[in-house]
Amino acid sequence: MTIQKIPLFVNLERKKETEIINSTIPVIIVKLHNDLTSPLETMSQSSLSVPPSTQRSISMESSGSSYMDCKSTVSSESEEEDMDYYYKEEGSVGQKICPVLEKDMEKLVELYGEAAISYRLLDAIDEIDIQINLPLSSIIDASVAEAWKLNKEEPLSVCLHLSYTNYLDIPSPPKVEVFQTSRNEKNGISSQMKKVMETFVFHQWPKNSNRMIDEYHKRHEIVINQVSDEEAALMIEDKDLARIMEIGFSAEQARDALILSRGDFLEAINNLFANKDSLQSETSSTKKEDKKVKELRTTERQSSVPHENRKKKKIFRQISHGSAATRKSHELSETADLYLKPSSTWFGKNSKRIPEPEFGFLVQIFQYSRQRLPTLNEYCVVCDEPHVFQNGAMLKPAVCSRELCIFAFQTLGVMSDAAEDIATGAEVVDLLLTMTKAASKHSRRNIIFDPYPTVVDPSDPNELALNPKHKDYDAVDKILKHVMSMEQMTALSSGDIKKTLDSKNKLCYPLLQWIITSNRSHIVKLTPERRIPFMKTPFQYLLLSSPPAKEAAFREAKDKYGSTFAFHGSAVENWHSIIRQGLIVASGTSKQVNGAAYGKGIYLSPNAGTSFGYSRMYASGGGKKKENRSERFLRGDNNTLFCIALCEVITWPQLKKSGQIWVCPESDYVCTRFFFVYEEATGHENIDTQQKQYNEAILKALK
Ligand SMILES: [Zn+2]
Repeated sequence: MTIQKIPLFVNLERKKETEIINSTIPVIIVKLHNDLTSPLETMSQSSLSVPPSTQRSISMESSGSSYMDCKSTVSSESEEEDMDYYYKEEGSVGQKICPVLEKDMEKLVELYGEAAISYRLLDAIDEIDIQINLPLSSIIDASVAEAWKLNKEEPLSVCLHLSYTNYLDIPSPPKVEVFQTSRNEKNGISSQMKKVMETFVFHQWPKNSNRMIDEYHKRHEIVINQVSDEEAALMIEDKDLARIMEIGFSAEQARDALILSRGDFLEAINNLFANKDSLQSETSSTKKEDKKVKELRTTERQSSVPHENRKKKKIFRQISHGSAATRKSHELSETADLYLKPSSTWFGKNSKRIPEPEFGFLVQIFQYSRQRLPTLNEYCVVCDEPHVFQNGAMLKPAVCSRELCIFAFQTLGVMSDAAEDIATGAEVVDLLLTMTKAASKHSRRNIIFDPYPTVVDPSDPNELALNPKHKDYDAVDKILKHVMSMEQMTALSSGDIKKTLDSKNKLCYPLLQWIITSNRSHIVKLTPERRIPFMKTPFQYLLLSSPPAKEAAFREAKDKYGSTFAFHGSAVENWHSIIRQGLIVASGTSKQVNGAAYGKGIYLSPNAGTSFGYSRMYASGGGKKKENRSERFLRGDNNTLFCIALCEVITWPQLKKSGQIWVCPESDYVCTRFFFVYEEATGHENIDTQQKQYNEAILKALK
C-alpha cells in the first residue's frame, strides 16, 4: 500500500497542514491537531474584535432584533478597533443575514430549546460561528461520561464556521470543531466526534443549498389565514414530527402516522412500531393503513385548504380530541430523549443513518451528532466503520483491526489522540502489562491470549511485525521479557523510556503502545480514600467496561428487578481478554476453564472467598510473603497474583443461585464495577455482599 499526503482539507484547517492518507479507506482521514479547541468565550477575549454582547443564546422572542443589535454594535465598535487585522470585503459590514440561516436557527430553537444553540457573529469577515449544543445528561450515563472524560452537566458543542450572508451557497464545507467549554485538555471523544461531523458535513454540504432548505421551511410555514380558529387549535406539532423522524421513520411515514392518530404522538409511535414491517415494504399500497391515510387526506382537502397544504405544518383533527392530547405530548417531550438512543430505535445499531434535512441544515447537524454520540465506541476512530466485535461493544473507543487503520494509527499517528487519550497513569499501565504478560506466557495462550497484538514494524512501516493472522507467541513473549517494569520506567525521564526500550528490542515500545490503546475498559486505580477497606489490598481499581447501550439496558433492568453485588474471580491470565472483550458466557466455549457444573452463564459469588477459588488463590499455594515495599506497582512476577472483580448483577428470576454460586445466563445483566489484585493469599471467606455492612460500603465506594 502507499500512503500519500493530499492537501484536501485545506480550507477546513485554515492554518495548519493536514495529512490525508489514501482514499481506499472509506472515510477521509484527517490528522487532527489539538487546535482551536478553546471555547468561543475565550476566543472572543483574544485579538478578535468582537464585543461580548454578540455572544448570546438566540431567543425566540427577540431573535429578530438581536441580529440588529449585533450588527450595530459590531460596526460601531469595530471602527475603533484595528480593522486592518482582518481581510474585509467591501460592503460586508452590515450585510443582511441569510434568511434561510435565520430560519434554520429558529427551527433548532423551536425543536430543541434555546440551549441548543449559541452563536457569535464576526461581521467583518462575513462569518457566523454557530455552536450546536448537545445535552449530554439525556444522552449518556454518568459512568460513560466519566470514562469518556466528558462533563455530563455541560453540553458537548459542535461549532460550525459559516458565512452568514451566503450560508449554504458556498462551495467549500465549513470548518467544524467539537469541544466542551470547560474542558481545555485534549479529549478523545471530542476528536472522534469532530472527525465524524467533519465527514458528515463534507458529504452533506454539496447536497444542501439555501434554496432547497428554504423550500422545506416553506412547507412547514403555517397558513393561518386559511385555517379556521377551531381547526387551528388542533394541529400537529413539528416537534412530534421531528421526534418520530429521529426514531428512524421518514418524514412521510411520520406525517402519515400523525394524521392517522390525529396528532397524538404516542398513538402515532405505537402505530408505526406495530406496523413497521408493513412500512418497511412500502410498495404495498393496498394496506389498510395507507387507505386510511388517503381517506384522511381526502377529508383534509375538502376542508377548504389547498391540496399542497397537506405537506404543511398544521394538520387538523377534531376539537373534542384536542387539548388533553396536546398537553400529554408536551409533558412527554421532557423525557423524549430516552426514545432517541440509537440502540433503542427499530433501526437498531445504525446510528449512521442520515437524518432528512426536513427542518433545515442545523437541525440535521444536531440530530446526526446526537445520534452518533452514544455509539462512538462502536465505530473505529480511524475509518468510522463498525468494529467487528466478538461479544458486543466495549466502552472505550478504539482503532479497528483493519490493517489500513492500524497502519494509519501507528505510523501516521492518525487519531492517536483519540485512543491514546487514556492518560492511563503508570499504575494502570502496570496492571495492563501484567495481564498481557500473564496471558502471553500461559500454557493455554493460543486460546486465552486474545486479542493477539497487531504491531507495525518500526523499521518497515508497510509491514506488520506482529500480526494476528500469523501468531507467534514466542516472539511476543520475548519482546515482553525486555519490557521493564513500570517501577523501572518511572525512574527514567519520558524521553529515556523509549530510548531504553528501543535499545533492548525495537518492538518493545510499539507493543507497549498496543497494550495501552487496545484496552477497551475504563480502569482507574483508587486512591486510599476511595478504596473499599474490607477488601484489604492497595491494588483496587474502578473497572467499567459497559458501553452506553449496555449500561442503558442494565439500568432499565435494574429499575424493573433491582440489583446487587457479587464477585467474579478469574485467573490473572484471563483478564487480558476480559478487559478487551468483556465478561462472556464462556461455558461451552474453548475459553471455559472452571466447568459449568451449575449451568451456562457468568459465574459469580456473593462470597469473596468463593471467587478467590476461581482466581486460583488457594490452588497455587497462596503466594509468597512479600517484603515491605511501595504499594504503587504490582510485583513483576505475576505467577502469584490473584484477581477478582466486584460486579453489579441484576436480581432477576433467571439469576440462578446454588448456595454461594450464582450463575447469570445473560451477559448484559452483569456489569463490572471494581477490580482487586492480591499478591498473596488472604483470608476473605467472611466477606459477603449480601450483608448490610458490606453492601453499604460498596455503595459508598461507587459514589
Ligand atoms: Zn478502522
